[in-house]
Amino acid sequence: MDLIETLNAIVGAQHVLTSGDLSAYEQDWRKRWHGKALAVVRPATTQQVAEVVKACAAAKVSIVPQGGNTGMVVGSVPDASGQQVVLSLQRMNAVRQIDAGNMTVTVEAGCILQNLQDAAEKAGFLFPLSLAAEGSCTIGGNLGTNAGGTQVLRYGNARDLCLGLEVVNAQGDIWSGLSGLRKDNTGYDLRNLMIGSEGTLGIITAATMKLYPLPVASLTAWASLPSLAHAVQLLGLAQKHLASGLTGFEVMGQFALSLVAKHFPQQRVPLWDSAPFCVVLENSDFESEAHARERFDHLMEQALDAGVITDAVVAENLTQAKALWHIRECIPLAQAEEGLNIKHDISIPVSRIPEFVETTDALLKRAIPGVRLVNFGHLGDGNLHYNVQCPAGADGKAFLQAQEPGVNKLVFDSVLAHGGSISAEHGIGSLKRDELPHYKSAVALDMMRAVKSALDPLGILNPGRVL
Ligand SMILES: Cc1cc2nc3c(=O)[nH]c(=O)nc-3n(C[C@H](O)[C@H](O)[C@H](O)COP(=O)(O)OP(=O)(O)OC[C@H]3O[C@@H](n4cnc5c(N)ncnc54)[C@H](O)[C@@H]3O)c2cc1C
Repeated sequence: MDLIETLNAIVGAQHVLTSGDLSAYEQDWRKRWHGKALAVVRPATTQQVAEVVKACAAAKVSIVPQGGNTGMVVGSVPDASGQQVVLSLQRMNAVRQIDAGNMTVTVEAGCILQNLQDAAEKAGFLFPLSLAAEGSCTIGGNLGTNAGGTQVLRYGNARDLCLGLEVVNAQGDIWSGLSGLRKDNTGYDLRNLMIGSEGTLGIITAATMKLYPLPVASLTAWASLPSLAHAVQLLGLAQKHLASGLTGFEVMGQFALSLVAKHFPQQRVPLWDSAPFCVVLENSDFESEAHARERFDHLMEQALDAGVITDAVVAENLTQAKALWHIRECIPLAQAEEGLNIKHDISIPVSRIPEFVETTDALLKRAIPGVRLVNFGHLGDGNLHYNVQCPAGADGKAFLQAQEPGVNKLVFDSVLAHGGSISAEHGIGSLKRDELPHYKSAVALDMMRAVKSALDPLGILNPGRVL
């Protein structure tokens, strides 16, 4: 039997796609790459995933695990060979169990993040992972990339929210590690090895994730600021006044907001044209809305009096709060509307961010007259999306071709000089793979290669990604 026939026998021929328009599986979200798959396989159970991996290993055919295909670094789509199998987890989307006493949820890898948030809320809990792609990305992809998002400040990355995994390894064996334990020191931490490995060490089929109490009230404010240094000051003030109540703190540069105003005119973007930066921040309270509002108003008054902010609005209700967050979430979409751009997802110690931006902005503007800088991100986590858009009226594709390597080198060298990382939350994929050796130690890379060849000696899991 050839491989396709074997796959048909495992998952059913209707779930082995080999013809028709497969671009949803073959093209990445940013439209940076369109590959060609031998087949897209859509198993329904962990057992089927294991059998698919065994069949592919026997045929020496490599596998690209895929969730919602919203990844930013070209990690979830096949290469151009037409010889890779895309293994889509989309059909494995059940919420298996909510353990209220243990405050955990066990969920299949293909469950869409928003569906998991909704299921948790229905059971009276908060599942705090939150990102703009939550309507399409999956929990398997979130763990595969160790996704961050807007609540990391309080609840941590996907890694911090995960207590157990079920994984199919490169040999097609199933590791059942869905323990739900908060303490388990029994040797090497396989769970943490798998998280953030971008489908190169194993295929996550299910996960046990932490749940949290739902806050009684969540308030959102929007403030304008004279500079990024003031945004760092505001962060310090907010941490002091709100402590663990501070659950979100996002910064947005004026040009980033102008793109939202331009491409989504139905969004009413407040204060954007009066200051170089705006911040959206969230205060979650476990006492009452009145208590939350009192603390928030006090913080804003202090910040205004100290000249840290120039103006502010506090959302009056949930609809207004959602609208403010929606503006922040629209930035990547507005940027995509504006055209191709060079994206950087970097982290820098928070205290050094203003200096990094000032220095790097100046270097880029000197190197490329008229360049436009889209700067926004999770300031509370020291994570900026520092993106470089071509000069107005220039051809985005030609700009990328001519400038991308030089721009990347300039930005990443500056990141290194400021003690940062070239990938804060999006991962490495194939887009940043060749950059990694310049910015990560040779010893670390050797250890990573040793892990990869020990767990996947045939190199069939997402080859060419990360390493
Ligand atoms: C508008 C927008 C906003 C975004 N905002 C954020 C943000 O704030 N923070 C953030 O971190 N990311 C963000 N992202 C990036 C992206 O949404 C995340 O990386 C997300 O975690 C990817 O999930 P996915 O299901 O789409 O994974 P995919 O894109 O399908 O895959 C991503 C990687 O994980 C691997 N993978 C997928 N499923 C599995 C599995 N079951 N087992 C093992 N490996 C697997 C893939 O092989 C690939 O390497 C954003 C993306 C968009 C489009």
